Amino acid sequence: MHLKHLVLNGYKTFANKTSFDFTEGITAVIGPNGSGKSNVADSIRWALGEQQFSLLRGKKTDDMIFAGSSRRPRASMAEVLLTFDNSDGFFPVEFTEIAIGRRAYRDGANEYLLNGNRVRLRDITDLLGHTGLAERTYTVIGQGLVDTALTQRPEERRALFEEAAGIGAYRDRRDDALRKLEETRHNLERVRDILTEITPRVGQLERQATRARQYQVLNGELKEHTRRWFSYHYQHARSAVERSTAARAQLDLFSSP
Ligand code: ATP
Repeated sequence: MHLKHLVLNGYKTFANKTSFDFTEGITAVIGPNGSGKSNVADSIRWALGEQQFSLLRGKKTDDMIFAGSSRRPRASMAEVLLTFDNSDGFFPVEFTEIAIGRRAYRDGANEYLLNGNRVRLRDITDLLGHTGLAERTYTVIGQGLVDTALTQRPEERRALFEEAAGIGAYRDRRDDALRKLEETRHNLERVRDILTEITPRVGQLERQATRARQYQVLNGELKEHTRRWFSYHYQHARSAVERSTAARAQLDLFSSP
């Protein structure tokens, strides 16, 4: 997997549309203090679906949008687009290039994009979850995070390393599996209770079921016999009517003057 492009538009200090092309090797972003270098790292984390504003050095969606300066008005929305080369199949989808984007508006609304299509945040986190790039992993290490890591106590730092090693995703899966196991245990207990309750009645239920089946067979036969019986009598009556009609016609013939 390789991050090829990053496009920022209205994100924090990036009032103008700004593109970064990441070629092979290391790319360094250099600038004076406060010029917005860390905002580049924030933008990547943000576009990957980060929901914790503290990790984005802000408090709300508004803080992600260019706030304006003495020379230009504030922006109405922020947009970040990441393009990954997926020719090695890092993302479990068929595309050789994956574009993940996020937009935010002043009313707090956020939109997520996958290869140009609007998707749900869930779709992005699902896609990233398969790769270890999920929101909480330390794929993007900003300046604040380095400071935090250096000042943390060993046990706190352990959580950071576990996240960085991608153990977090497996821990979540283990917790999910344990929860499902617990649910299954409950279901099993319920099934056992039901079995204890119905086992003594099984013989009786079997007899009832046999009778119900016999009833269905006999009812079918009865319907067939009834149909034949009525059909026979109908034909019989019709023949009698025809004979009577013919006899009457004969009589009419002889009695006519
Ligand atoms: P340093 O080298 O000191 O760490 P830096 O180059 O990493 O700095 P950043 O921390 O990325 O700089 O950027 C901080 C600057 O971004 C501040 O000047 C701050 O005012 C500006 N900034 C943050 N959010 C916004 C926003 N929504 N609109 C406009 N400017 C913003």
